[in-house]
Amino acid sequence: MAQGIKDKVVVITGASSGLGEATARRLAQDGAKLVLGARRLDKLQALAEELSLGSNAVVRTDVTDCEQVKHLVDHAVQIHGRIDVIINNAGLMPHSPLERGKVEDWDRMIDVNIKGVLYGIAAALPHMKAQKSGHIINVSSVAGHKVRPGSAVYAATKTAVRVISEGLRQEVKPYDIRTTVISPGAVATELTDSITEPDVAKGVKDFYEQFAIPAESFANMVAFAMSQPEDVDINEILFRPTKQE
Ligand code: NDP
Repeated sequence: MAQGIKDKVVVITGASSGLGEATARRLAQDGAKLVLGARRLDKLQALAEELSLGSNAVVRTDVTDCEQVKHLVDHAVQIHGRIDVIINNAGLMPHSPLERGKVEDWDRMIDVNIKGVLYGIAAALPHMKAQKSGHIINVSSVAGHKVRPGSAVYAATKTAVRVISEGLRQEVKPYDIRTTVISPGAVATELTDSITEPDVAKGVKDFYEQFAIPAESFANMVAFAMSQPEDVDINEILFRPTKQE
């Protein structure tokens, strides 16, 4: 059992696949008490059963709905008496050139990738401030450091996550609340399925097939940040496949 993880109450959004699922597996193995959210309840239930988390450990949650995110966090506090960590992980990446005017995709990215993170912060902070402890882990991306043709809106949302995380860090340090923003490169998940333009999807999927690393790489970063002594805050982690530009 890893130091700093065992018995921690951890809420993960977007836990039904990819990085969230891999993190749930890792943290369960290390003895955390998990509460998992996503829209696909069947996937969450199957994961909870496999990890012997109990049926209380999953809550159907759409992170674009502030009340649903609040319910997810309040549920964790209700059953475990506290919340130690929230991992604001839910996200999507429907890349396309701006000139194609994919307004619905832009709206979805802003709603899930930015507002979803803000709703997670809003839900967790009152509890963490009252506890005078906690850890908010937000998921950005290499795209939050570097914009490319076709990735402008996604990169904007992930840059926003970094900026929000740094602002949050400065505001909550008096309460001994830690903040970590993790920016992964290409990791093999369902993320590329969110691309709605077939030609763009093909290019990105080809790239991922060549370079992407396993989702456990992200879970390792979460475990690393969580395992630090309470007075050490890993503010930011940027990692990518060795061969990725
Ligand atoms: P996946 O597509 O595998 O997982 C995305 C998760 O987000 C799913 O669990 C999905 O669950 C959830 N989700 C999507 N929309 C909503 C919503 N409205 N409400 C609640 N949950 C939602 O992709 P990843 O695991 O790769 O993505 C996780 C995070 O990692 C994202 O923020 C992504 O931007 C980021 N990231 C990923 C990288 C990669 O290469 N994989 C690189 C950099 C960052 P459900 O559909 O059941 O709701």
